[in-house]
Formats: sequence, C-alpha cells, structure tokens
Amino acid sequence: KERAYSMMIRARIPGGILSAEQYLQFDKLSEQYGNETMRITTRQTFQLHGILKKNIKATLKSINDVLITTLGGCGDQVRNIVTCAAPHEGPFYDSVRKDLLAVVDATSAKTNAYHEIWLDGEKVNLAEGETEEPLYGETYLPRKFKIAFGYEGDNCADIFSNDIAITAHRAGDEVAGYTLAIGGGMGRTASDKNTRPFLAKPFCFVEPSKLTEVCKTVIGIQRDFGNRENRKFARMKYLVADRGIEWFREEAAKRLGYELDPPRDIDWTSSHDHLGRLEGEAGKVHLGLFIENGRIHDTETMKLKSVLREIMVAYQPTVRLTTQQNLILCNLTEQQASEVEQLLRDAGVKLADEYRPILLESMACPSMPTCGLGIAESERALPTIIREFEAALVKLGLQDDGIIIRMTGCANGCARPYIAEIGFVGRVLGKYDVFLGANVAGTRMNQLFKEMVPAQELVSTLYPILEAYRDERRAGESFGDYCVRVGLDQLQERLVTVS
Ligand code: SF4
Repeated sequence: KERAYSMMIRARIPGGILSAEQYLQFDKLSEQYGNETMRITTRQTFQLHGILKKNIKATLKSINDVLITTLGGCGDQVRNIVTCAAPHEGPFYDSVRKDLLAVVDATSAKTNAYHEIWLDGEKVNLAEGETEEPLYGETYLPRKFKIAFGYEGDNCADIFSNDIAITAHRAGDEVAGYTLAIGGGMGRTASDKNTRPFLAKPFCFVEPSKLTEVCKTVIGIQRDFGNRENRKFARMKYLVADRGIEWFREEAAKRLGYELDPPRDIDWTSSHDHLGRLEGEAGKVHLGLFIENGRIHDTETMKLKSVLREIMVAYQPTVRLTTQQNLILCNLTEQQASEVEQLLRDAGVKLADEYRPILLESMACPSMPTCGLGIAESERALPTIIREFEAALVKLGLQDDGIIIRMTGCANGCARPYIAEIGFVGRVLGKYDVFLGANVAGTRMNQLFKEMVPAQELVSTLYPILEAYRDERRAGESFGDYCVRVGLDQLQERLVTVS
C-alpha cells in the first residue's frame, strides 16, 4: 500500500489577475483535494496545500479547465511573472500588460510533456538531438528565475528582489520604454557566509519592441554561464556579482548585435500595497483586502473563505492577487462595494482601514507545517508577535507608524525579509536572526543586528530601539532610515545600556 504523500501545488497566474470563475475553481479544489485553505504567495499566485499524490492529476486538470496552468509555478525556469497589482486602467497600462504577457509567452516552457503526463495530451515524438525548448534547451536553467514589472515610483512589488526587474516609463498614453535591473534575489544559506541576498543592479533601458528579446538574452546568458556545479550559487545574482554588470552588458550586446542604452534614473516614492477602497474609472470601485499572511480560510470568528466565495458568485469581480499576499476585488459599482463591505463585516472580516499600519505592512512565509524547508515557525508565529509589536507601538505612541516587519522560517527569504525595515529570519526552532535598516521603498537591504533571538523576546529586544526612534527621529524619518543614520553598532550599545 502506498504512503499518503501530500503535495503543494502552485499555479502560474501572470500579474496575479484572475476571474471570479477561476478563483472559485481554486476554492473548490482546496475543499475537494486540499487542506481547505488557499494561500496567496509573494509571487502573486495561489498555492494549494495538502494535495494527496493520487489527486494531483485531477487537481492539475481542473486548474487547466479554467485556463490556468501550473507549468512555471516551480522549477528551474522563469517563474510566475509579477507586477504592481493596482487596478490602473488606460492605454499605458494596457500596453504594459501586453508587454508582460509577451514576456510570459516568450519565456514559458514549450514542452508538451506537462500536457502528456498530467492532462492526457498527445505524445510528441522528437527526432534525436531535437529539443522542444528553444530558450531552455535540454538542461533548463541552473536555478529558478524571477521577473517583475513595476511602474516608475511605485515599488509595491519589490521588483529589485528579482533576477530581472522591469520598470515601465510613461510618455503620455504610451510606454516610453523600460529600465531593466538584473541580478536580484533573496535566498541565502544560513550555514554558508558566502551566500547572500542581492538587489538587482541597473542594467539598461529598452524600447518596448525590444523588451522580449533583451529578457531572453539575459536569460540565455544565465543559462550558458550560470553556476551548474553548486546549487547554492546557481542564481543569476552570483553570476552578476562575480562577472560584473559591464561584462553582462558586453555579452548581451554581442548576442543582440547592438549596444544597450544606459538605464534611466528612477525615483521610488512608495512601496505600500493597494489596499482599502480604490476609485477606478467611470465610477468603478476596487476593494483591496488585507489577507493576513495570504491565508484564505475560515476560523471560528472570521469566515473569510466562505464570504469570498459568496462574493465571487454574487458579484463576479475580477480578482487581483498582490505580491504582498493580499487581494483586490475589482470593478464593483459603488452600491456593490458597499454591499460587499457589509458582507465582509458580517463574516467577521475587517476592512483594510480597520487595521493598524503595522499589520498591513507585515508578511510571513508559510513555513511549518506546509513548507518542508522551514526550521522555525513563521505564518503560525507572526500573528501573535505582530500584535505584541502593535501593543508596544501603542504604548510608545507610534501606533500610526507603518514599520515594515517580515518573517520567514528559514534563510531562503520567501517573504523578502531582507528588504523589510525589521526582518526576522528563522535560525533554529523558536529563534530568529533579526535584521534592521532596509528602506520603505525597497531599494536598500537591511543588515544583521542580532542573532538567535527567542520568539518571545523579539519585541522586548527591539523595544529600546523603538523608544529611541520615537525620541530621536527626524521629521518624516522612517524606522529603517533612522537605524541606518544612527548605525547598528550604536543601536547595539543601547541594548547593552538598557539591559
Ligand atoms: Fe519555506 Fe524557507 Fe520559503 Fe519560508 S522562507 S516558505 S520556510 S523555504
């Protein structure tokens, strides 16, 4: 008798946009085959947990029935391409969406094996030496590859944590072009000091018509030069760090047959998610809901999953998943939005403006029990810890400050803890390394502040720093900026003085 292996299935939903019908399919599958919850991920897609091995085929087939695939959700290829989830409308945004989909198409695996194995597709017989994969070849990429789009100024999608970060520039209603940065990535290995997170570095500016070929060229360079000997160093960020951005530019120019234009300077003014009531075109209303740590489920006091199901059936909103694990219900009328808000309240679901900023800015990765790599609690631990922080901030009179706190259950950093103002990274069960000092815009990484802090001491450890921040900050200074201005060494000394 076979053991009851259980799996996680992750879909690929470009830009996180799906219809109510598609949403309902995930809801149904999570009930039928999963653990009755749905998880929005930091890559703007759904994960279903607890799928038994015998049900994988039926689950994948049902996802494909609503025109969504899981091909590219995982694996050493381009993963789900993410973007700012704001439901902007108009020709400029339509063009960016078109370009995003063109990059998705150009970087999707062309294999028929997925259909053959999971969807009962026709078997394709290839001639000897022939490969189905024009971009990936027979060996695919050395490691996973992440691409993000963003709009100039709004870094809600943390684009610099990706292998390729693409910023759209606007010229009236047109797309003027894209600035690409390359070589970002969060993961590291706790036991190996040579591994580290990187932010993507400015690379080039391209006209819209050249975006796809330049992306494919960058991917091709990583395919051909990326480290295939040691998986710990296989992400493109190490290739960029080792060879340098200039080498990369020259190699790209050689392959493309033309020089690349220099990247444009960009001012980043915001990285907040698009939550609350958002006014759309022609009187449309969008409702950005805070989904704590991306988990859609019912509890004793909050029937989130049930009420979202009811809303999907009754109002058929377009759904946008965000890279901060939240969800936006789009294209409602004013009247419908009010009805939806009432339904949510009746189900015990708080609206975004009923949460303090510290909650809205927080994120945890899944970790235990559903991620096999987790060595410390994350999604199950953060709700308590973040409320302890909230209480501390209230005591200090800082309750209106939106300090960005993120937690992960291991050094892989799936919830992007290294670009949080406060990052907690699980080191062993019950203990976390604490990182401080990233900026709000997501363009500066934090630094290690204290190792192996027990979960129950995270708030008390940082309390004196928060107190000093309240007393010493300059006008408008964020917590991360304060930490960097004062210096982590100085802040360490304050801990010693206090204890
Ligand atoms: Fe799992 Fe680690 Fe990623 Fe958390 S950060 S989901 S524990 S791999």
